[in-house]
Amino acid sequence: MIYLDNAATTKISKTALEAMLPYYEEIYGNPSSLHTAGQRAAEALLEARTRMARLLSCAPNELYFTSGGSEADNQALLTAAAIGAKKGKKHIVSTAFEHHAVLHTLKKLEKEGFEVTLLDVHEEGIVSPLQVKNAIREDTCLVSVMYANNEIGTIQPIKEIGAVCREKGVLFHTDAVQAAGHLHIDVKEQSIDMLSLSAHKFHGPKGVGALYVRRGIPLSILIEGGAQERGKRAGTENLPAIVGMATAFEESCAAMDESAKRLSALRDRLIDGLSDIPHSALNGDRFRRLPSNVSFCFEGIEGESLLLLLDDKGICASSGSACTSGSLDPSHVLLSIGRVHDVAHGSLRLTLSEENTKEEVEYTIKAVKDTVAYLRSISPIWRDLVTGKKEFILK
Ligand SMILES: *Cc1c(COP(=O)(O)O)cnc(C)c1O
Repeated sequence: MIYLDNAATTKISKTALEAMLPYYEEIYGNPSSLHTAGQRAAEALLEARTRMARLLSCAPNELYFTSGGSEADNQALLTAAAIGAKKGKKHIVSTAFEHHAVLHTLKKLEKEGFEVTLLDVHEEGIVSPLQVKNAIREDTCLVSVMYANNEIGTIQPIKEIGAVCREKGVLFHTDAVQAAGHLHIDVKEQSIDMLSLSAHKFHGPKGVGALYVRRGIPLSILIEGGAQERGKRAGTENLPAIVGMATAFEESCAAMDESAKRLSALRDRLIDGLSDIPHSALNGDRFRRLPSNVSFCFEGIEGESLLLLLDDKGICASSGSACTSGSLDPSHVLLSIGRVHDVAHGSLRLTLSEENTKEEVEYTIKAVKDTVAYLRSISPIWRDLVTGKKEFILK
């Protein structure tokens, strides 16, 4: 099996998995317990928090562990909204291609009387700091812009956007779920007030993540109960997963530069190979994208059929985000970069990890070429295009 869906989730690293086991079998106490077993667990919890904080350039008590990226995004947005509402500031700036964890929370806030401006991300899938600056108003309480997009992999100028927000005195949140462990993060240098990350996107376990909240920002309580996470997020900590996350994060960050070099070479070979397919287009900027991300549209085919046939050939790919597949609506991300419905339906996302090889990449290029050609040969839409009944949109 060739696994090319690492933006959906990654395989857990051996080191992370092994680091977790003692916290199930030996150090299984509840960190809130006062006895020795509990205190050993509490020490391990603090150590994991400290290790993660070091890699983000924040203090350990600026990190809150969550159940993943979605929870962190929800809590960040609801916190900024609560702070804003107190001051009569009910305007939020974000982008059209955020993850649904952000977009759906914004929808909820709109129903509660907030006004949301979603910035255009242009054909290249990138917002500019100037757009952010121009969108900020007197009553803006939050800017939320993702670090790297989960479907098309484009990287946003986070540091510059952070500087604009800091200058304007507006809170800045970034969904860094696709970036953590893969791109440089320094919350101080990048003027980030809140940041979401999720372990299973960097070879950690599923169901655990973290939210960084700059000291002095009063985090809203999402889950009421015990005093865990400084009273902001109740529930017995998932210590094995937290230790696994810290281990995987350290491992990914240490390998980041080396890995980026290797993966971008594989990515570029995939992009070059697939660009040979006529009437196709790469989604998002060619260079300002994650080293692991390849996203294409092929005219005249259905992405779902392509996925199923590729699966038959042993290739696990995606048509976009895991959340959008399964519905017939084209991806909001592809629409946001100006792809029309028909073209957006013929999408394919391939996302690499360290496990992938050159041989797999060559096999995949051939498999995609053959499958697209086959699907076109039986597609009525393609027939209309080649007979001139309909006009091609992609050159
Ligand atoms: C995967 C993902 C999420 C959701 O993270 P979970 O841990 O699965 O809840 C949020 N944002 C982005 C950009 C993602 O890629």
